[in-house]
Amino acid sequence: MTEQYSNTAILKKFTDFLESGSYRKTPERFTILEKILLLPHTFTIEQLNDEMEKESYHVSRATVYNTVELLIAAGILRKLFLDGVQMKYERITKVSYTYLVCSSCGKIKEVKDYDLSAYMNARTYNAFHSDHFSMCVYGVCNSCARKQKKRNTVNVKQKIQNRK
Ligand SMILES: [Zn+2]
Repeated sequence: MTEQYSNTAILKKFTDFLESGSYRKTPERFTILEKILLLPHTFTIEQLNDEMEKESYHVSRATVYNTVELLIAAGILRKLFLDGVQMKYERITKVSYTYLVCSSCGKIKEVKDYDLSAYMNARTYNAFHSDHFSMCVYGVCNSCARKQKKRNTVNVKQKIQNRK
């Protein structure tokens, strides 16, 4: 099973969406989508802007936001609120990702969990039609855990020192 939809399929989906909703098929909208396809599957608006700046491609922020909203309506992207602070966008794939969010530094790691995806996709709920699921696991990343351990060791040493 391929996890990603092909770029051709995504471009066609967007074209169909724009045509069916009588939206204009402006070159800017397609350039923004092409840039999104170069980004990791989750990204921020800042990353998208940086990607466009790389090739000195200037479009207004309003156009970027407007296009992102259209891509959400087209079922190509969705919003992700992982740490409650930073808003990210996720390209919709066939496999659902589990996001490991570090409560200390805010770093987010993505892991694919096929068993969980299979389970959740087959899961039904009474009087509710599910569309997708989003899974976040909160904790502390390895590098923060190491720093905390070091800090604790220093604190213990200081306490011992102070007692002398
Ligand atoms: Zn961390």
